[in-house]
Amino acid sequence: MDDPMSLLFGLDGFRVIEVVRVGNRVVQVLIETVENSWACPDCGARSSRVKDRPKVQVKDLPASGQQVLLWWRKRRLVCPAVECCRASFTETTTVIAPRARLTTRLRNELAAAIAGSNRAVAEVAAAFGVAWHTAHTALVTAAAAWLPAPPPTRVLGIDETRARRVRWLLEPAGWRRSDPWLTSFVDADTTGPGVLLGLAPGRSGSCVQTWLAQQSLAFRAGIELVVIDPSAPYACGIRTALPHARIAVDHWHLVRLANEMVTQIRQRVARERHGRRGVKADPIWAHRHMLLTAGDRLSVRQLARLRQILAHDDPTNEIGAAWGCKELLRQLLAETDPQRIRHRLWRFYDACARAEMDETTRLATTIETWWPAIAVALTEQVTNARTEGFNRIIKQVKRVGCGFRNMDNYQRRIMAHIAVTRPRGQAA
Ligand SMILES: [Zn+2]
Repeated sequence: MDDPMSLLFGLDGFRVIEVVRVGNRVVQVLIETVENSWACPDCGARSSRVKDRPKVQVKDLPASGQQVLLWWRKRRLVCPAVECCRASFTETTTVIAPRARLTTRLRNELAAAIAGSNRAVAEVAAAFGVAWHTAHTALVTAAAAWLPAPPPTRVLGIDETRARRVRWLLEPAGWRRSDPWLTSFVDADTTGPGVLLGLAPGRSGSCVQTWLAQQSLAFRAGIELVVIDPSAPYACGIRTALPHARIAVDHWHLVRLANEMVTQIRQRVARERHGRRGVKADPIWAHRHMLLTAGDRLSVRQLARLRQILAHDDPTNEIGAAWGCKELLRQLLAETDPQRIRHRLWRFYDACARAEMDETTRLATTIETWWPAIAVALTEQVTNARTEGFNRIIKQVKRVGCGFRNMDNYQRRIMAHIAVTRPRGQAA
């Protein structure tokens, strides 16, 4: 294949026999393999006796900006061995897989275009002149090779992310709420680089169990710690699948719960005092974000302002008490020393008990329920910050994935995008 035309076409092991223009910027290219003797797949005897040469059409990359209609003059050979039961066989090559309608280089190009640039499958398919399912199959095949089994980790982070907006679907039985979630599994070991290990549809205990069951025994045995948000289904799934692992609850989710508690009390106080929701004219409503800011991040002036507002706008001191409980929880969650943790925990429980409100009691109860797992997170200093980082990538992929009806496609797409754009071992 050292003739100029074959060299330029660049399909390894093939020679170009003929190029004909068949339309505006469309050329028909006829090719055949350079090799002229082939081993019988049954007996291994080599043959160069051609029985017939059927022409098969294969899709290929555009060449020099022109669409290519590729025809392969494929050899069907006669087996020379008398004792072999196979009368004939066809030649094979890795450049065009057996029975494939696409060259391997086109398949790779399609997959890389979809996964690497975050383009929609339909858009890439149109650009290469192939059907949607052809482009999609190329991605699926490539993704399987790009995504090796997850590397072992000591700390596994599990978190949920909404896969799609809530939709209402009209079905024969009536309207059904579609609210799909995805669970992400992340290497949360802070000494390592952080890798998205996998995704599973749903956010139940069984989805955690199913994903873990698909991993190797060594992978499961290597996990010492699992970081989650305070989710009972996740905890249940982990206890079943990884009875030896310790569960740690990420403090970020607990701070969020405390902030929600402050907001609930502020809203309730407004309803009880004014018989309506908070409005701009209420100083406490105008400063609602300040209430949720970490106390140690407020300036002296801001703290003085907050005290002034509470003195004026919170006569029953319910909002002030809620703020105090939230701050004590934040201080507790910042501790790593067991002695100081015990002290801070006592102060938090004491403040919640004194506040005597349903909202603060509920927060204290949640902390008490999850306390063993929270203590693990504080003393081991693990968080799910990594998972949060990957959730951002997932959301970005989701924006182009509006056509993903099928959750399998969606997961593959996210994993493939991460595999292509992020060399393994690079953190979020
Ligand atoms: Zn044979």
